[in-house]
Amino acid sequence: MSFENAINLSIRVTPNSHENVKAFGLPGVVEKSFRAQGFVGAIEEGGHLNCRILSMAPHGMGTHTESIRHIVEDGPGVCDVAPLTPFRVRLITLSTVSLGATEETYLAGEPADQVITNSRLKVYLKGFDGKGLIIRTNGELNKTCVDYTSRNPTYFTSEAMANIARSIDHLLVDLPSVDRESDHGLLLNHRSFWKVEVGETRLKSDSRVERTISEMVYAPAHVKDGDYWCLIAVPNIDTDALPCRVLIWK
Ligand SMILES: [Zn+2]
Repeated sequence: MSFENAINLSIRVTPNSHENVKAFGLPGVVEKSFRAQGFVGAIEEGGHLNCRILSMAPHGMGTHTESIRHIVEDGPGVCDVAPLTPFRVRLITLSTVSLGATEETYLAGEPADQVITNSRLKVYLKGFDGKGLIIRTNGELNKTCVDYTSRNPTYFTSEAMANIARSIDHLLVDLPSVDRESDHGLLLNHRSFWKVEVGETRLKSDSRVERTISEMVYAPAHVKDGDYWCLIAVPNIDTDALPCRVLIWK
């Protein structure tokens, strides 16, 4: 497999539709036609061309990549940290367990929560020296068209995230967040990955500003676990999270 046969791991989003993946009760992508002084940016309404205005909440509308600025006020935007060149990733598939059935921890967790544990993760990280990790969870959900809102989706134990944070700079997951949906705003795993203490709202000298997290990344079943090249393409807009296209190839 080469770049010409790259596989797309981003989920298609259809504006103005309810048939999309969604999370956190955020609005979906809205597309409107631009209008001004006789100009109509819609061919179907007699305009000469289509000229749309899009509004979106990247964290809740589909596949997106975020930078440390998601949790601090002064970090770089995702357009400045998403790598411009391909990097090595390992794609792995993990089954989840309930938090109450493991020795591992998550401060704001409840025993029935489904979690990704370090005890299942660690064997896959051994011997891998690439910078990227793609985690596919095996569940019954239709990951390309599900509303995760109020469903308390799977997240990571603190031990799993601590291990990832030792060597991985670009973490990609099929979940809407690496943290619990309702965690009292602690964002413990985001903080541990980017090295920002709870309560801090600004960068520290040792914060990992170069790192990214991509969420709601969908690897179809025909894509096998293994090592790939990966490219995360985002628009050049200076903000904390952007819709992205994730490509992988051998
Ligand atoms: Zn997000």
